[in-house]
Amino acid sequence: MILSRKEKNAYWMPYTDNKWFKGKPRLLESAKGMYYTTSKGEKILDGVAGLWCVNAGHCRSKIVEAVKNQVEKMDYGLSFQMGHKLAFEFAEKLVDILPNGINHTFFSNSGSEAVDSALKVALAYFKAKGKHSKTKFIGRARGYHGSGFGGTSVGGIVANRSQFGNLLNGVIHLPHTHIPEKNSFSWGQPKHGLEKAEALNEIIDFHGKDNIAAVIVEPIAGSTGVLVPPMGYLEKLREICSKNDILLIFDEVITGFGRVGASFASKRFNVCPDIMTLAKGITNATVPMGAIGVNSEIYDTIYKKNKDKIELFHGYTYSGHPLACAAGLATLKVYEEDKLFHRAKTLEKYFGNAAHSLSKLNVVKDVRNFGLVAGVELSERSKNPNTLGRDVYEECFNNGLMVRFTGNTIAISPPLIIKKSEIDMIFSTLKSAIKKVF
Ligand code: PLP
Repeated sequence: MILSRKEKNAYWMPYTDNKWFKGKPRLLESAKGMYYTTSKGEKILDGVAGLWCVNAGHCRSKIVEAVKNQVEKMDYGLSFQMGHKLAFEFAEKLVDILPNGINHTFFSNSGSEAVDSALKVALAYFKAKGKHSKTKFIGRARGYHGSGFGGTSVGGIVANRSQFGNLLNGVIHLPHTHIPEKNSFSWGQPKHGLEKAEALNEIIDFHGKDNIAAVIVEPIAGSTGVLVPPMGYLEKLREICSKNDILLIFDEVITGFGRVGASFASKRFNVCPDIMTLAKGITNATVPMGAIGVNSEIYDTIYKKNKDKIELFHGYTYSGHPLACAAGLATLKVYEEDKLFHRAKTLEKYFGNAAHSLSKLNVVKDVRNFGLVAGVELSERSKNPNTLGRDVYEECFNNGLMVRFTGNTIAISPPLIIKKSEIDMIFSTLKSAIKKVF
């Protein structure tokens, strides 16, 4: 199957070097379980669960059936001044698995919209409390929070920001937590880096707690190349936020739904945010959906302040879309029946050891892992710099494996149904690819 010039021109692909891709397109045609099949009939082991989202594996029959049944019954049902039962049912089921205290959910259609929703709710909360000056946000260098203006502003990946001017006002960034000189090749959480959380105190001293609404971080930074939080780091952020009446938002778009060996990173690390963002694994990526979870203090405050009117002037045409809710409900059942969150935890050691076996290669600068996520960072090569990650990615693909690359870091985050033999395949293919292209 080849793409015509007109087709190639018509489709502007996201986050892609279009020239590179369209020069030699790789087209996926079908998917089942752990595998994609390409238009050429090649079977590709999905080492990244799509984009860290197909946590239960592809085309799970129970989820597919649920969506099919729902689309025949009611294709769309609005959520403004009207409702349908599935959205309420799904919200309740989500609340059941969210950390204690996070008792309310608001639906969006993506992680980016969930992030924007979380930021807006934080502002609305302080406004409802009469603390009008609390409007600044604190993100973190190397953070990724999607592509909306809010998420891009609090995000900290330079390339994602540099084309877009000033973005939101009043956003400050914490330092990232990557300290290679002390933490390289840490197994799980690195030991050093608590001081990176202490930097929050300096920001608060400088900008004033009365001007800051919220801190937003990914518990594990994924898109930047897998940065696991140093021991005590998230706890410290929680402590400082609570002390200064600043909301803590965890962006769990990647870390949610079993990826880290628990339902959510907040539970695994035992640190509860005030607001959390969800997407991706929420529907096993079968239908786009995002959500935020908020605690009762926030919900009740906004609710009570706006007794006689709409409590929150925010939402999306597709908030609580019936197909997404049907997919989400079926997805939660699959996670539960197959005990996938627990499975991720039991595979963590095997997976982590397999990832760290690559540290024997001279070109490997660092290996980072947690749950079923790993990042393998490579040294830059002298010839053709800046394309090493991409070349490794292509070589893996040519040998039947899909990985992700960010610069020279290769990320692995397979569906949680993965078998040990498939973990072996991932890391042996990656090892051969690194050796070949370096
Ligand atoms: N937040 C995090 C932590 C993410 O990793 C992503 C996507 O990778 C997003 C937000 C944005 O999600 P979406 O692409 O669904 O808008």
